[in-house]
Amino acid sequence: MGSMIHRLQRIVQEVNRASDINSALLLITESLTRDLSVEACTIFLTQKDEPDTLVLQAASGLNPEIIGTVRRKLGQGLVGTIAARAEAMNLVDAPAHPKFMHVPDSGETDFPIMLGVPIMAHREVLGVIAVQRSEHVFNEDEEAFLTTLAAQLATSIERAESQGRFSTEQATHVIRGVAGAPGMAIGVALVLNRGVNLESVPNKRTDDIDGELQNFREAVRKVREELTEQAELMRASLPEEECALFIAYAQMLSGGSLIDDTEEGIKDGIWAPSSWRDTVEQHAHVFTRMEDPYLAERANDIRDLGLRVLRKLMLEQSGDIDFPEHTILVGDEVTATDLAETPLDRLSGIVSAHGSSSSHVAILAHALGIPAVMGVPNLPVKQLDGVDLVVDGYNGSAFINPSKSVLTEYRQYLREEAAIEQDLLVLKNQPAITTDKHRVSLLVNSGLMSDYTPSLRSGAEGVGLYRTEIPFQIRDRFPGEEEQYLIYRDVLNTFKGMPVVLRTLDVGGDKPLSYFPIHEANPFLGWRGVRITLDHPEIFVTQVRAMIRANVKVNNLEILLPMISGKAELVECLVLIKRVRAEIEEELGQQIALPRIGAMIEVPSAVYQIEDICALTDFVSIGTNDLTQYLLAVDRNNENVADLFSSMHPAVLKAMRQIVQGAAKSGTPVSVCGELAGDPLGVMALIGMGINSLSMSVGSLLRAKKVIMSFSYHELAELLDQALLISDAAQIRQLYAHKLDSRGLGGLIRAGK
Ligand code: PEP
Ligand code: MG
Repeated sequence: MGSMIHRLQRIVQEVNRASDINSALLLITESLTRDLSVEACTIFLTQKDEPDTLVLQAASGLNPEIIGTVRRKLGQGLVGTIAARAEAMNLVDAPAHPKFMHVPDSGETDFPIMLGVPIMAHREVLGVIAVQRSEHVFNEDEEAFLTTLAAQLATSIERAESQGRFSTEQATHVIRGVAGAPGMAIGVALVLNRGVNLESVPNKRTDDIDGELQNFREAVRKVREELTEQAELMRASLPEEECALFIAYAQMLSGGSLIDDTEEGIKDGIWAPSSWRDTVEQHAHVFTRMEDPYLAERANDIRDLGLRVLRKLMLEQSGDIDFPEHTILVGDEVTATDLAETPLDRLSGIVSAHGSSSSHVAILAHALGIPAVMGVPNLPVKQLDGVDLVVDGYNGSAFINPSKSVLTEYRQYLREEAAIEQDLLVLKNQPAITTDKHRVSLLVNSGLMSDYTPSLRSGAEGVGLYRTEIPFQIRDRFPGEEEQYLIYRDVLNTFKGMPVVLRTLDVGGDKPLSYFPIHEANPFLGWRGVRITLDHPEIFVTQVRAMIRANVKVNNLEILLPMISGKAELVECLVLIKRVRAEIEEELGQQIALPRIGAMIEVPSAVYQIEDICALTDFVSIGTNDLTQYLLAVDRNNENVADLFSSMHPAVLKAMRQIVQGAAKSGTPVSVCGELAGDPLGVMALIGMGINSLSMSVGSLLRAKKVIMSFSYHELAELLDQALLISDAAQIRQLYAHKLDSRGLGGLIRAGK
């Protein structure tokens, strides 16, 4: 078993490192021929433009001239049948099978024993791998091996494919992810160098050979010095053997072929990071191919070393980033800090290989009205820097190198969208009220100062959720009481006379603090929100002190507690808040009102304890992002399950109705502050439920108002009853979308409709 896993890993690594898809596939066929003792191995792949046709892409052991010439429709021949059924076939005598189709001149009839398995990714058949030999039927272990290999390779093939195709053609290329934040943008990709890795180094050339040589030598020198120092330090606490590694690394950088080969490349006009990457890969590759696991491991050492030098090289060059006028941030994982570092007047869109609409960066983008496409599998990040892009945040797609016709179409959409926005502007000073006179309060979610002005301009009636973790995240240490006091006073004053709900620190899960690292196997089920702040009362107390002090003159503060999963946590928080109030009263020598205190309802246990929670709070606020994540057991940031994440899922709607009914018993007000509150269809469902306070990204506010003003509470309540009879999330959305469309408001969920 051990050796099988080892072999698999080696093959997958080789493929991931191959320079293009054809050499990757050839590598697989060669490795398989060797590892499974077969005489022939073939790989057929479906074609992007002809998804129902499989073409022989690589072969070993057969006449190589047939590569590219053998084609099979789905269901045709053995290969076509394997693909059509998405099922493996293990045959003792392939030519005797009724589906067998002879390939003239292939030589395959000499190898009648055949095992073929489909290569599948995201429920789609990408191709078929088949192995053949003349003796010995394939046993179960071999079948398991090939199936496992095919599953692992599917991702590699997908990636190699999208990158390989992309680099050879300059044609428009569509990428699909999930809708992260609505809107559309036309701009130029900017790939930030953060989290540099060897794979993401772009291929570039340079005219400044001397400058590049100097940069390279400087980077190498620095890493060498660091390594020597580290080795010295480690001697104190590590066995000699481990320290030796650092010395060995340092020696590799003192001369020899790693350095010489890179310098040769630079002298030929290759940009230093590209040349270094090529050299590192070549050297590592030599080791990877060795069967001896010890030597194969040395390949990782070389890459590790490669990365250290690369970081020095790349980071030093990224001092001043030149942001294009219409910047589209592109990355493996675009983060909240990336966004915070980009000048907002230049930021037009975001495309991130990982994440979903409820990732923090997407929520921020939404708040800022910036379209985002998240969770794009196999995004060819390294090749996108400086490339033209069209981002469609409504349906989660983007166009690389958009053609004239795509550009024309999107310019038209953008004009129509601007027209809708223009129409909506007249609503900004009108109250949000249904046609049968139910008044709804519309507030904004905030966390960045940059959204205060747009919020006030859109007629927001206060801040329904201020995510205090955002100011914490964009710093490099915990902000002190005074620093926090200024931040909170600023937002309380800006929205004077309106409620401002400051949520206590909600870090953990997907919201890391660089200066407070937490390593857990299940971060979403771990140390998050009040669980952290109750364990660190000093953080909690400092924060609440800053909030209450900031509120003294303005008196519009409300405090919201995140991740409450039971009554005990709430009681503990209340004790601390009251203690802080008493302290401040003593310090000031005056009485101060206790702010209204609310709990987030975002953990399923809180739904079932709603009455107990309401008995202790002044209001509750439903966090639909986490509530959906925890109820449906769907990670809000995982693109593999993004399709399953739906806050309109019947289970989520029913839970919310239960919250509303439970809170009604004590007359506790319920508001909603998750993303659903800003989704036009979500607004319809929530109003129908009897909720009359919604907090959302500022970009959604006027759309939500338009929706509220277009329906009666009565009809939305009826529609909800109808929706709750449906057991499927997508059908529920459809029901609401039809209703919206029938009012002529389809453009609110997609401009240009
Ligand atoms: C939520 O979970 O719905 C919510 C509003 O909080 P956050 O997205 O910040 O976790
Ligand atoms: Mg939450």
